[in-house]
Amino acid sequence: MSNHAKIDFNESGVPISQTFDDIYFSIDSGIDESQYVFLKHNGLPERWVSLPAQYDFVVTETGFGTGLNFLLTWLNYRQHARSCTRLHFISVEKYPLSKSQLAQALATLPAVAAVVEPLLEQYPATEPGCHRLVFDQGRVVLDLWIGDIIETLAEWQTSLAHRVDAWFLDGFAPAKNPAMWQSALFNTMANSAHRDTTFATFTAAGLVKRGLNEAGFQVNKVKGFGRKREMLCGHFPGQIVKSSRCRAPVTLVGGGIASACLARALHQRQIPCRVISQGLADGASGNPQGAVYPLLHAELTPLTRFYLQASSTAISYYTPWRDRYWFVSGVIQPAFNASRIDRIEKITACDYSSATVTALASEQSSTLAQLPIEQPSLHYPNAGWLNPSKLVRAMFNESDSDWMTDTVERIFPSNLDSPTLAWTLVGTRARYSAARVVIACGHASATLFESNLKMIPVKGQISTIRATAETEALNTVLCYKGYMVPAQNGEHCIGATFERGQTDLNASVEADTANCDSLARCAQQTWSQHLEVTGHRVSIRATTPDHMPAAGALDTGLMLLSGLGSRGLTAAPILAELLAEQLSGGVVPLTKDARSRLQPQRLIK
Ligand code: SAM
Repeated sequence: MSNHAKIDFNESGVPISQTFDDIYFSIDSGIDESQYVFLKHNGLPERWVSLPAQYDFVVTETGFGTGLNFLLTWLNYRQHARSCTRLHFISVEKYPLSKSQLAQALATLPAVAAVVEPLLEQYPATEPGCHRLVFDQGRVVLDLWIGDIIETLAEWQTSLAHRVDAWFLDGFAPAKNPAMWQSALFNTMANSAHRDTTFATFTAAGLVKRGLNEAGFQVNKVKGFGRKREMLCGHFPGQIVKSSRCRAPVTLVGGGIASACLARALHQRQIPCRVISQGLADGASGNPQGAVYPLLHAELTPLTRFYLQASSTAISYYTPWRDRYWFVSGVIQPAFNASRIDRIEKITACDYSSATVTALASEQSSTLAQLPIEQPSLHYPNAGWLNPSKLVRAMFNESDSDWMTDTVERIFPSNLDSPTLAWTLVGTRARYSAARVVIACGHASATLFESNLKMIPVKGQISTIRATAETEALNTVLCYKGYMVPAQNGEHCIGATFERGQTDLNASVEADTANCDSLARCAQQTWSQHLEVTGHRVSIRATTPDHMPAAGALDTGLMLLSGLGSRGLTAAPILAELLAEQLSGGVVPLTKDARSRLQPQRLIK
């Protein structure tokens, strides 16, 4: 839902908020001011030099704005912090800048140029919720929450507890923006604090000083930056020690995209991981091509909310493999019948950000796709396709996990009377014991645990077709009832059938014909007729009755990551980040509402 910042740029290129009638930073001293107010008065970068190994340094900021504070923090962190620590920067923004506004604003700040490009590359469509962006091989994580800080805080109360190391209180001045500087903010800060927590803010306003004092902070008035007389900084007194991460080993069951993303997320948190799987990417993740894009409804349903966050996180997560296994080609959905035309109108009326979706006339669709397309369409510019089979292999390689080739058939508690619960995993080759297990093996997950789960297997056959001189030019994914992906090695992947309740892996000529017919009917173009099928592949997807994936605890020490349906490539990264945070005690990247809807216990029969 576009709630973009309304800004003007002055003659020096500095952004000015029309809403708050205030500048985002000063042209000659923006960097110095940010360094002085937010870094220096939070004791940074000095505090980073002596962090213990594996420390997660958490910064929380009110008002992401142009991202200047984040970029400067990131640069300083790169330069000064020990390589065995991580930076988790969480920032909330009610009126996000669009990507082009951000690029224009940051172009005036050469001092942070080294990190501007990576931020712009991953800057999400600014839809509500949390967009998790991962930089520097997972060493730096940015959670950009789009929404009002006071409303968003409700999502955090528990997850932030005793974990935040430094608060950057930015946001426009209290006189211009009184709604932001409320006791709800100061009280959350106190709940998030431990004995080393500090804060800094450019303002010296009495209401901020009093609010922080009342919430329990020790507040100091110090010299402000430049001509500003005063600012506030301080710390949280007391003996509460920071909640540290749990790094006990984790056993993953499954070798597909969900397990690969989780293995990688655990590795980035230095949590040892063992993977037990009969094969590597041998389910739907073994397909040569698959699309990544949000699932949109004509209103902001919980499912759509989830997929908006999931897709931006996925797009960020796959960046290291861009143009190798991940291609930001955009996705086009042609409106091949009357109800699809109606849908374009409904989606357009929804006011999604133009970085999420826009409507195209048929000529524009054809120009973008590089193939004649008869109908108007929806275009998802940030979306794309990947080669899951290669990507899953690359991710497991990077994750450095212990690999056991085996098929787990059953999981049960080792000894119910034991105070430390462990799980026994019965494989066809051996038995394994583990205190912490994540079941992530698609539809096979449904029957491993003592209570069966309400998941529905859906057989899907994809077909590969030979690219022709005409279709070779296709350079975006086409999604209709099925999908067609740009050619790779002279072939396109088209798919997929949807055979509910089927679990056999037999491929059929009928299914190939169905895939070709579906494309021919939807595209209604000469290029979509007489397709030559060159191969096929069958896999089984795990779906759930409410279409939400399942991610979270089934029992003590036993978690589930499954039910990703035909959207595993889009959903896996954010769910893996969620589980990695839940397993280790970090700050989670999803709203409370989304987490409860993802709860696997809802699937227990
Ligand atoms: N930290 C930013 C930077 O480095 O560019 C500058 C922040 S700018 C001075 C203040 C920001 O706070 C604006 O982007 C504004 O939209 C945001 N803001 C104001 N009120 C807010 C609220 N209630 N919740 C979240 N963000 C808010």
